[in-house]
Amino acid sequence: MSTTGKVIRCRAAILWKPGVPFSIEEVEVAPPKAKEVRIKIVATGLCGSEIKMLENKTSYLHYPVILGHEAAGIVESVGEGVSTVKTGDKVITLFLPQCGECASCLNPVDYLCIERKQSKSGLMSGGTSRFTCKGKPVYHFANTSTFSEYTVIKEISVAKIDAAAPLEKVCLVSCGFSTGYGAAINTAKVTPGSTCAVFGLGGVGLSVIMGCKAAGAARIIGVDINKDKFEKAKKLGATECINPQDLKKPIQEVLFDLTGAGVEFCFEVIGNPETVEAALASCHESHGVCVIVGLLTDVQLNISGSLFLSGRSLKGTVFGGWKSRESTSKLVSDYMAKKINLDPLITHTLNLDKVNEAVELMKTGKWQVAHIIFMSECLGPRKRCVGAGGGSKQEEMAGI
Ligand code: NAD
Ligand code: ZN
Repeated sequence: MSTTGKVIRCRAAILWKPGVPFSIEEVEVAPPKAKEVRIKIVATGLCGSEIKMLENKTSYLHYPVILGHEAAGIVESVGEGVSTVKTGDKVITLFLPQCGECASCLNPVDYLCIERKQSKSGLMSGGTSRFTCKGKPVYHFANTSTFSEYTVIKEISVAKIDAAAPLEKVCLVSCGFSTGYGAAINTAKVTPGSTCAVFGLGGVGLSVIMGCKAAGAARIIGVDINKDKFEKAKKLGATECINPQDLKKPIQEVLFDLTGAGVEFCFEVIGNPETVEAALASCHESHGVCVIVGLLTDVQLNISGSLFLSGRSLKGTVFGGWKSRESTSKLVSDYMAKKINLDPLITHTLNLDKVNEAVELMKTGKWQVAHIIFMSECLGPRKRCVGAGGGSKQEEMAGI
């Protein structure tokens, strides 16, 4: 039975207000409007950015809301005028859209599609939501809202990928991997033979390490206050790892001692104003480049101007500087061709109804977690979703 054009009832993790846990609820997901796509989410990661959103009580969120921005799934149906994906296609969700028409998309060196700004309202075109729960509209998040069995996303925020791609792995291309890897390759433009340091060895920081290695860096120093992160960081390319809490001197002084003149490329992948200053101060005085990858929304930086005087630079990055739609399809193909490896970034696979446990695992740092993948197929009895069909397991999950 086709679900096209019908409201789908399914389950989602809803955040009703700031400071409360997620609650798993039945939601109604409206059919996609013009230029929108309804997707059966098969796997979605929990990224450090969700933790930041929960901790910072940011003005960016409107409540109630469905979070989640790092996912892969199968197109269930498409709205009027959608031409680049069709029912049954495997896709990746993109918090950073690529409309292909705005001044940014048409500029080869710009990747920040102007359409991304609409996500701040938490609403789709026409100022409306596609989700309701208990009779109330529920806000979207980051153009994606993937902590739901089904979501509605604009066509420009969806990338079609290889039909053979394992969705429970390539969902990391949707944010964590691409952000970190691209921060090294596109934003910093790490050079062969260079020395790099990476502050924060979560899923995104490990992906920075992979990017530095792919760019030919000779020395990659991992920095984290959780020493349990070091083994994996070394497997992925870190040449050494340091815990700043074990040091008698500030980390920047130790990095200067180790390298003679500071590191050429430094990455802050935590989202902490103090480590941003330490990362910048760790850079080579004349030409060191520091890239802030960590999320610093609603945060002021207080950095000594003297750090810049000799020539260091400090820059940010969103989604690793990739033009999102075209690059993610290629990155998935690179994964399929074994040119990149996502598998070590996944340490836990949980059901979406364990979302609060996953948040605790990530927040408390008792874990060795990179990114946690939720498999929505484990959510509960199929009958809770309207429109179950026959076919393969993933097709069945897509309701097609
Ligand atoms: P994560 O929580 O898995 O990793 C953070 C790591 O930092 C942990 O290993 C933790 O032990 C370490 N850490 C915490 N405080 C530290 C300190 N004072 N010194 C050294 N290490 C410390 O998170 P993640 O998913 O890897 O995300 C990392 C950051 O990247 C987050 O801020 C997230 O919001 C941000 N992010 C940004 C973008 C972007 O487009 N710019 C995209 C995705 C994620
Ligand atoms: Zn993310």
